[in-house]
Amino acid sequence: MDLDEAIRKVPDFPKPGILFYDITSIFTNPEAFRYTVAKMIEQYRADKVDGVIAIESRGFLLGACYAEKTGIPLVLARKKGKLPGKTLRQSYDLEYGSATLEIHEADLTPGRRWLIIDDLIATGGTLRAVATMVERAGSQVAGIFAIIGLPFLNYQETIGHYRPVTLIDYHGESV
Ligand code: AMP
Repeated sequence: MDLDEAIRKVPDFPKPGILFYDITSIFTNPEAFRYTVAKMIEQYRADKVDGVIAIESRGFLLGACYAEKTGIPLVLARKKGKLPGKTLRQSYDLEYGSATLEIHEADLTPGRRWLIIDDLIATGGTLRAVATMVERAGSQVAGIFAIIGLPFLNYQETIGHYRPVTLIDYHGESV
């Protein structure tokens, strides 16, 4: 399976100079979707993973597949203001300004090992915010998974100690 072929690249989205890697084109391709989910599950077969935390919104689709197929709990990390119950919050810096993610506090059972899933790792700031919440809740990060990695944005410096796993890496902003 050539995953690169299955990923739509959109130059200058959402703003000039950004090459957007759109994984929705994997979901419209059943063969690529099946391959991606199987590869994701294979990565952690030998590991102890007690639950999955999926990041809004594209991470939800992958996290839901992982949790359903392996029979473990799925917890959602959502953008600020979406979750109705009592939440843990973590803010993080974006290129311009900042963002906040929330998790229902009651869902983050202490002492568990959580696999955190998103679609793409750029600077690693989003995943680090979720990893920080996991640790604040007295749990551990079992791993970090994304389909795509952009290592030239130095995410290893931010989240390398959590051993991030990606299925395909891009090494520059070329289509
Ligand atoms: P970061 O926190 O810098 O690692 O950014 C990761 C988040 O931003 C992920 O949730 C991605 O969906 C999104 N993202 C950042 N850069 C891109 C890109 N070039 N293409 C698609 N999504 C991106």
